[in-house]
Amino acid sequence: MAKTINEEKVRHIANLARLSLSDKEVKLFTKQLGAVLEYFEKLDEVDTEGIEPTYQVIDGLENVFREDKVGKSFSSKKALSQAKKINGDYFVADHVFSKKTSKDRKNIDRKKIDEYNAILTEVYEKGTVGHKDLFMTEDVETTAASHVLDGYIAHYSSTVVELLEKAGHKTRYKLNNDAWGHGASGENSDYGPTLNPWDKKLVAGGSSSGSAAVVSTGQVEVATGTDTGGSIRLPASFCNVTSIKPSYGGLSRYGVIAFGSSLDCPSLMSSSAKTLRKYFNKVFIKDNFDSNTKSKKRDIKAKGVKKIGIIKEFAGKGNDPEIQRTFKEAVKLIINAGYKVEEISLPNAELGVAVYYIIAPVETSSNLARYDGVRFGNGREYFGAEAKRRIMLGTFTSSEGYADKYYDKAARVRTLIINDFKRSFEKVDALISPVSSILPFKIGQMSKNPLQLYLVDLYLSAISLSGLPTIALPGGFSKENLPIGFQIVGPRWSEDSLFDLAEKYQSLTEWHKRLPNNSG
Ligand code: GLN
Repeated sequence: MAKTINEEKVRHIANLARLSLSDKEVKLFTKQLGAVLEYFEKLDEVDTEGIEPTYQVIDGLENVFREDKVGKSFSSKKALSQAKKINGDYFVADHVFSKKTSKDRKNIDRKKIDEYNAILTEVYEKGTVGHKDLFMTEDVETTAASHVLDGYIAHYSSTVVELLEKAGHKTRYKLNNDAWGHGASGENSDYGPTLNPWDKKLVAGGSSSGSAAVVSTGQVEVATGTDTGGSIRLPASFCNVTSIKPSYGGLSRYGVIAFGSSLDCPSLMSSSAKTLRKYFNKVFIKDNFDSNTKSKKRDIKAKGVKKIGIIKEFAGKGNDPEIQRTFKEAVKLIINAGYKVEEISLPNAELGVAVYYIIAPVETSSNLARYDGVRFGNGREYFGAEAKRRIMLGTFTSSEGYADKYYDKAARVRTLIINDFKRSFEKVDALISPVSSILPFKIGQMSKNPLQLYLVDLYLSAISLSGLPTIALPGGFSKENLPIGFQIVGPRWSEDSLFDLAEKYQSLTEWHKRLPNNSG
């Protein structure tokens, strides 16, 4: 079989994406991207004849118009304050035709300010909430855990941060994460991996790694995170925390650094479903700054959960035996609590990883194009390895000659995945499955093999592609005392029903109350 990618093509894509790669990087990326592209070939076998592509999942959306009137904006001083070079009232850009790059800002090595490397900045000692460093916080450094944004001071706060502040929940910490949200382990942070409070040799799960660590140790009552393809659910599961990923469009993305725009869901974590719900209700608002939050359908009352489907493809023998055992026990408990449970097949759900790792990198390569070192932040040479891989991957799968085979095909398979879920919700009110097939793993164990790390998302991607609300919650422990979570998924805008079910489960179990040994 002819290789889809070779060093020459890698150099060409790097050029298109304005990344300058060393010879060593070209070699490595050729190998790694080759393996990922080979994995995508499973989509070739899917019949998408007559299937429309899905580019976004918003329903009942209305255009948001406003009067065109002059309002308050930044002063030019403020707008220019983060630029490296200015001339009077103008930004100075590097010469377009010169090859020179300026590494004139040195990398700031973050001081590790806690034993888990979960915290990037302490904002206010008496604060009670923590924010993933993708959330803009006015006048506070906001880095997306990337050296590109070292020293970047946000001009305004994201809607979620502002709503919490206004409700009296001051920000205590800015928290570590995989840079730009790219990752499942927390190891892709440019400031080093977050350590799992249950065992410091293990990953905390990502990308919202710091959020899970500080909630599990009780350092904050609630933390924000984002879930583009599982990033709130996996760390919640690996650290014994309860999380909500709302329906896509549920919480405002305004002021949250963008990763994959058709997938990004600002999300929350806390120690119980009850506390989580209290906070969730404060931030679940329609925001004029993010028209995705304006869906009328969100006001339709969810019908409650009586019948639950076990996702057949996610609950089988491929799971770690300890995960199989705890999941069976959780199901038993749910049946004893009076719910009807049956098995449901989602035949296309396992294609989620291939579809997600085409669509999310395409979207992130576009979103990260704005980091050119002119208006804010450092130049593109500051991107870490995973960000570069994703920019390369997304640029390639959407480039001329390849977009049909990859991006367009993925958008059509996305429709098939969504239809699987729609059909299942004609039979049941919610679906359940483990969050992952494996327990928290050793730091460094998968870092040389990006595809292996992408496959950790097997039970997460399809749900994100469909924009469905999901609560991940503690469901037991392994023999080695490692947390194991499971997830409850509902139709769009069924958050209330999911909270009812999660609260019911937590009224019958104690798992969520366990704290890691060495925490207060
Ligand atoms: N593991 C996924 C990824 O690496 C999820 C990321 C996310 O949800 N932000 O892209």
